[in-house]
Amino acid sequence: MDIHGKNFIGNTLSAKGSSNFCVFDAESNAVLDGNFVVATEEEVNAATALAHEASSSFAEMPDEERASFLESVADEIMALGALLESRACAETGLPLGRIQGERGRTCFQLRSFATLIREGSWREIYIDTAEPARAPIPKPDLRKRLEAIGPILVFGASNFPLAYSVAGGDTAAALAAGNPVIVKSHPAHPGTSELVASAIISAAKKTNMPNGVFSMLNDQGIEIGKSLVMHPQIKGVGFTGSLGGGRAILDMAAKRPEPIPVFAEMGSINPMLFLPGALKAKGQEWAKTMGESITLGAGQFCTNPGLMVALKAAELDDFSAALAREIEKATPATMLNKGICANYSSKKKTTLSLDGVETLSSSSKDARGNQGMPSLAKVSGEKFLSNPACQEEVFGPFSLLVVCDNADELKRVISSINGQLTGSVIGDADDLAKFNDIISILRSKVGRIIFNGVPTGVEVCGAMNHGGPYPASTDSRFTSVGPSAIKRFVRPVAYQNCPQDMLPKELKDENPKGIFRNINGTITQDPV
Ligand code: NAP
Repeated sequence: MDIHGKNFIGNTLSAKGSSNFCVFDAESNAVLDGNFVVATEEEVNAATALAHEASSSFAEMPDEERASFLESVADEIMALGALLESRACAETGLPLGRIQGERGRTCFQLRSFATLIREGSWREIYIDTAEPARAPIPKPDLRKRLEAIGPILVFGASNFPLAYSVAGGDTAAALAAGNPVIVKSHPAHPGTSELVASAIISAAKKTNMPNGVFSMLNDQGIEIGKSLVMHPQIKGVGFTGSLGGGRAILDMAAKRPEPIPVFAEMGSINPMLFLPGALKAKGQEWAKTMGESITLGAGQFCTNPGLMVALKAAELDDFSAALAREIEKATPATMLNKGICANYSSKKKTTLSLDGVETLSSSSKDARGNQGMPSLAKVSGEKFLSNPACQEEVFGPFSLLVVCDNADELKRVISSINGQLTGSVIGDADDLAKFNDIISILRSKVGRIIFNGVPTGVEVCGAMNHGGPYPASTDSRFTSVGPSAIKRFVRPVAYQNCPQDMLPKELKDENPKGIFRNINGTITQDPV
């Protein structure tokens, strides 16, 4: 299959623009196949109009049909086989095993949402039956369910070319709820994006979805993204990427005549609190584990442990010396692209130039081409507290160790930390009891608190929360991973005194699917 570089306006390929861009092999910087056509305003209008037209039939079709569509998307992605694998590896520099794992996760997410909507309770149904004889005022019949909000715009991140991109978690959640999706493809992996978009369109045709349930537009810059955010027919945004990008989109959306919700998952430095008992007992083991976590995937994870906090002590000296050796031994790995690699070097340089920040160690091996050099730095608690720039994300294989003089300073350091996706506590039973108040402060800052584990690795399941207080995400009430991610793209609608034959299926008296519903305060699978 040749890479055509065109935009997807629903089921039609379109290339009306006169600007093009290409993409480079992450490892060699050689130009890859494909001349990508930047979308035009006319194409933005065409895609949004089509999405708008598809909205009501897509939202109102039986959940069963949308479930089959999602499963078919997973099948079509798998059918791309080695073609998708090799293109994604070339565009991102990620190893084959990682791409295969991410593809498996992407398909699992699509299938999980299919299972969720088939079962039906995701609509959170409440039924309060009428009491016409109630005095002094009769009570009406009220029935409520969650419904789609309309066309959703999705931006994916460079570091997850499949799982947080074209058919990633945001797209799967939005489609599952019955919202058409328009993706602004990521310019760092446009070929991978095109292949996945073709899989979605093929599935949409096979399962008879209305034309316009999915479109994808290309741009190398931010103009098309901005036009889409501002377009009146877009009703919500899912974003995964940098704090700068997410914040800019949130602000734009708030300034629209009709503001819309923006669910932006952004950067995080994922603080890890190392407590004395654990360091004394297992400091050497933790040094090895941390060396692996900091350098995993060239450090290009939103859950990369970018900050470690501990109390000054002999056991901390032993741990940091062992971790420094692990970082020295680590091999530099190719980063996602030239820009990300240059950004890593310059952000690291900025952090290392901050007052009181000193390098503890760097890889002893040379970094070639777009490889990122693993590095470790340290700073005192006092200097960390005096300079908020120490909290800036350095996206890559880097971590900063904050050494605190005493428990009071440790508490102040943890209290000063911005909102995060995760926070980890490394401690034995005595540590956990002794530092409980500081652990509570850490918990108030994060979306997921981890005990005696590293933050890298995000399980896709119902109990996962991937999100956190700002600036980790723009709305900490929602997760972007797991089935409840669907809640970002729905709104409640109440039906008052609605005749049975006009009610949506799930709200009628009978309950043939046995959905769990709250009827007059009791959760039941019974009919009304
Ligand atoms: P990025 O530079 O923010 O780009 C993400 C997408 O947003 C791109 O398509 C980009 O388009 C677009 N964009 C950025 N700024 C924009 C603006 N002002 N207006 C309109 N569109 C805009 O992020 P990235 O480099 O791809 O991803 C790496 C970052 O993502 C890291 O900070 C990482 O921590 C974070 N991340 C977070 C999570 C999470 O779940 N929280 C997961 C993965 C990654 P252009 O490229 O065309 O500018």
